[in-house]
Amino acid sequence: LKYRSSLTQLPTQFQGLARLGLALCLCTLFAAPAWCRPDGNDGAPAPGMDRCVQQALDAVNTHQRQFIAPVAAEDALASFAWVEETTTRVWSAAILQAPKASGPDARRAANEGEEAGAKAASPTYFAVFHAWHTCQSDGDHVHPLTFTAQGWRLGPEIPETETGGFRLRDHDLHLAIDVLRQTATIRDSARIERTAATVPPYCMLRLSDTYHVSAFTCDGRATPFQQAGGVLIFAPPAGKTFTVGLHYSGTANHGNGDYIRNDEATFNSYWYPNIARLPATATITAVAPPGWIPVVQGEPVKQGRDADGGAVVTYRNDLPVCWFTVDMGRYHTLSRSVDGHKLTAYLLRDDPAYAGRCLDLLAKALHCYETNFARFPYTRYGVVETRGEFGGALEAYSFATFSARGMLENIPHELSHTWWGGLVPCTYTRSMWDEGFADYSDQLFHRLAAGETSRVDHPAPHTAYGAGFNTVALADAHDTSDGHQSAVGYGKGQLVLRVLEEEIGRETLLRCISAFVANHPRGEAAEWPEFEQTVDRVTGSDYRWFFAQWVDRKGLPTLHLSDLTVQREGKGYRLEGSIEQSGALYRLKVPLLLRTKNGAFQHQEVEVSGVSTHFVLRSDDSPQLITLDPDNILPLTSAEGTSRDLTLRDE
Ligand SMILES: [Zn+2]
Repeated sequence: LKYRSSLTQLPTQFQGLARLGLALCLCTLFAAPAWCRPDGNDGAPAPGMDRCVQQALDAVNTHQRQFIAPVAAEDALASFAWVEETTTRVWSAAILQAPKASGPDARRAANEGEEAGAKAASPTYFAVFHAWHTCQSDGDHVHPLTFTAQGWRLGPEIPETETGGFRLRDHDLHLAIDVLRQTATIRDSARIERTAATVPPYCMLRLSDTYHVSAFTCDGRATPFQQAGGVLIFAPPAGKTFTVGLHYSGTANHGNGDYIRNDEATFNSYWYPNIARLPATATITAVAPPGWIPVVQGEPVKQGRDADGGAVVTYRNDLPVCWFTVDMGRYHTLSRSVDGHKLTAYLLRDDPAYAGRCLDLLAKALHCYETNFARFPYTRYGVVETRGEFGGALEAYSFATFSARGMLENIPHELSHTWWGGLVPCTYTRSMWDEGFADYSDQLFHRLAAGETSRVDHPAPHTAYGAGFNTVALADAHDTSDGHQSAVGYGKGQLVLRVLEEEIGRETLLRCISAFVANHPRGEAAEWPEFEQTVDRVTGSDYRWFFAQWVDRKGLPTLHLSDLTVQREGKGYRLEGSIEQSGALYRLKVPLLLRTKNGAFQHQEVEVSGVSTHFVLRSDDSPQLITLDPDNILPLTSAEGTSRDLTLRDE
């Protein structure tokens, strides 16, 4: 159910009436209002809490943070920045109640000194703002509810990155679909580990709000739980590790995520429970309708048929990753064995020529990445077509899903995610560093395939990067559904790695990249600082300045050529000038290309760090044109007055 509230535009005295009208309207039209109390409360939330959450929801859906102020605790308003920044436009809300301590495990936990302290300070109620989200994008938002002298108020957000001291390490998932009803029925047996000495008296799992959990167990025993939107809460057992069992189902018809069509289905949007989207291993069993082929992450363990003749396959993925996909459909397949890997194209049409071209490209890219990054971790890789409303392509490490006809364009990028996202996982809760690496890999693959291009050539057409590149730092761009964040995460990410390649040399950069994969601790996610440490270690130098200016700081350099003079010097010419920086200062190696009257080209690199850097070029023939960054390697702003090419007066 979706609704967008416009209540906050009304004068205060009418808001109560309007809210009542809207509530009646919703009750008449729909089965449930957009926010609701959780099922099975021991005690219903206090009445004022309902009003607080309703008012907060109205404010949230205006996407203006200041409207939250009346219902937010004093220290909480800053943490509502997500209201203005996230890509989700329509939110729903629900109240979640923390479990009451009960049973021998909980009593034992309460007796353990420090834990009892944490328990006393823990909130009892939470407001969950939720919506369906595509993967690698937005998530639900959880704020504790506290009772103050002014009534119920929302506290500072419990961010999605907060694990609460728990890690979900392994899944045993089982997925079956009903094509006619477009529903998925899923169960999971997930192993959870305590990673902190002190934990709150509850554990929170996240799961797409599409799915309704109908049964929940802890270590095999039925256990009380609550679900509010995409958040599930329960009292964890006292043991170091425990296993939760979940049965859930939901309608899968979301564009760009989980959907079931009459000849195919894809699941890739939080169809599995997770904690902070952190990496986990998984055994996944998929049951396909008769005539459909399931495609699952990892290595095949078991294959069979159900009573209807549908394929039942079980795959094991021992590589801990953050993102799981299951595809299934009436595919036409073409397989080929290359260097010990089984490569398969799964197309929804019979087009062996196109499938063959996909496999040709796949084999070349795989060879390139194995040579330059690290060994490929699976025995197989698949490229799977979808005709659903799917934005581009999505990696799943041992295969990838592609919108129809988009395969050839995206295969090198998606395959590289087996290293960037697979071997080195990325949560997309802090940054999408892996997208910069994937675009860089794609570009490197094409450059290597084309052979080295000569530097003594005419200048490349210049690309100027607009406002989108200046809005967010690379270290903070994390939501792939956001246009500006994507421009930075993919585009600037790739360009910054290209600049690093120029700075330290390709061979050294590839050693850094291999070391990044080889030394990354399996089971953990990475961020830019881990790569920075690798670069420092491999080069034996301190590259803080590089990552500070390119990754931590938003924006791009603005450079101008100025004060150019040409003088005769002996038999030749002497060209002098300066490279000016405006705005934030960068430390750069700036390539210059000089074209002389006889058509010859001359390259020179100038190290730039201050506002103005003087340079001198000497040539035998009369200088005609000077170009800054002729190979278009430095990402520069399109600032007013930028001059990259200057035509010189003929002497
Ligand atoms: Zn990608």
